[in-house]
Amino acid sequence: MTFFITLKMENQLRNITSCDECNSDYYTDISQMTNLCPECSYILYGYQNCKHDFENGRCRKCFWNGNMSNYIQNLKDKNLNKSKKILSIIDFFQTKYGTTNILIIDHWDSDKEAIGLTEKSKQFLAYISTISDRDNDYFLALENPSVDNELVHSPIGEFYNLSLSELEDKLIKHLKLAH
Ligand SMILES: [Zn+2]
Ligand SMILES: [Zn+2]
Repeated sequence: MTFFITLKMENQLRNITSCDECNSDYYTDISQMTNLCPECSYILYGYQNCKHDFENGRCRKCFWNGNMSNYIQNLKDKNLNKSKKILSIIDFFQTKYGTTNILIIDHWDSDKEAIGLTEKSKQFLAYISTISDRDNDYFLALENPSVDNELVHSPIGEFYNLSLSELEDKLIKHLKLAH
């Protein structure tokens, strides 16, 4: 739905329309896409975003109100600085076992080829990395909840050269998720 209102602001007339994705109103002249606000066009299509400057719940530059569609929120959650291979692993497990059962713990922000996963209670951890270029060559480290109070988690095993199904098998057992 597109409709135009003209607002008088800072002595200039600017057209306002509502974003198809997040439903927020925004200034049309600041977005490079016709029906999307700068925020949504950036996230969905990589167009230049506004450097938002919020005041009273609205960006002064683009008029965006900070709304996010569920879809965008979901994308943002997944917008980790990770390699495609790692992202597809996360996607694979979360699609199969549910986003509430496979949680991401990213203690390795600078490492694009590694991700930490845990289950609902956040007690059992798994660390996955893909150092090699080959398919089906994953590294997995598993950690149990600590038995004493010294360490938060105790490492219980490291596995090299795993295929995806081997990885899945070990991960699911460790996180106590059913197939
Ligand atoms: Zn939007
Ligand atoms: Zn803005």
